Amino acid sequence: MAVILDGHVYADMALDSVAEKVKDLKKRGITPGLAVILVGEDPASQTYVRSKGRACDRVGIYSRTLILAADTTQAELEKQIDLLNRDERIDGILLQLPLPSHLDEQHALSCIAPEKDVDGFHALNAGRLMLSLDGVQPCTPKGILFMLKQAGIKIDGAHAVVVGRSNIVGKPAALMLMQENATITLCHSHTPDLKAQTLQADILVAAVGKPHLITEDMVKPGAAVVDVGINRVNGRLVGDVDFENVSKVAGYISPVPGGVGLMTVAMLMDNVVSLAETNHA
Ligand code: NAD
Repeated sequence: MAVILDGHVYADMALDSVAEKVKDLKKRGITPGLAVILVGEDPASQTYVRSKGRACDRVGIYSRTLILAADTTQAELEKQIDLLNRDERIDGILLQLPLPSHLDEQHALSCIAPEKDVDGFHALNAGRLMLSLDGVQPCTPKGILFMLKQAGIKIDGAHAVVVGRSNIVGKPAALMLMQENATITLCHSHTPDLKAQTLQADILVAAVGKPHLITEDMVKPGAAVVDVGINRVNGRLVGDVDFENVSKVAGYISPVPGGVGLMTVAMLMDNVVSLAETNHA
């Protein structure tokens, strides 16, 4: 049976360290601040925003949630972003995605000041990641790497297969694993024989959004399997990995819920603190 990569354990570890850094900043008169913008009333987004607020409370970060109506215009959204860009209490601005379909996500993200871009989604920060320069790293891939490293899983020299090429998870996860000296394969919806690729993986990251896409026969015995997917099936949350059966072959596996999702929030807290440290240096 696989070792469970328990998000509670690794997120607690990260949050304890963030709380220490917040204490140090407060001694210097600095309280890190996060603003979350939520447009509309998507229930899943509301849940994520609440969990981010709770994490801020736990580590001592000042937080503010701005809730905008579902029919907010692009101009109004960007005006609010601009106000937060100039707000001295705010070090990080998070635009909760997805936005309602009438809004231009990329354009709105480009309006967030790069030095307050807590998710690392601004083109400048994405470019810095591409060039292996220091900068804000997207929270979910950062959480995946934190978890793998803390669990003692060797990334250097491993073959990492990432399934999913989104800008927020798959693509940056592949880049970050490569920067840690893994050999990477990035699979997506046009990959002809997914199983042939996943079977090569020492580290397999599934970030697709299709329940139980990754089955037992697609996993190399002993591999570390990281499940990023969040899917709601009959009112229950399930990942992209068939946890019950894959855990019989994998060496390590992260559960859903209780895995990567918790790491994402913990890394968000870490990014707010890093931005506060840089912005007040
Ligand atoms: P997305 O919808 O933007 O992209 C999905 C990717 O999967 C695409 O690149 C597509 O090419 C690929 N894909 C689709 N069908 C495929 C198939 N049959 N085989 C191989 N690849 C296929 O996804 P996203 O925003 O990266 O989210 C992916 C999943 O991760 C979703 O379930 C989302 O809810 C979840 N997610 C979780 C967290 C977390 O913190 N745990 C964070 C972000 C996203």
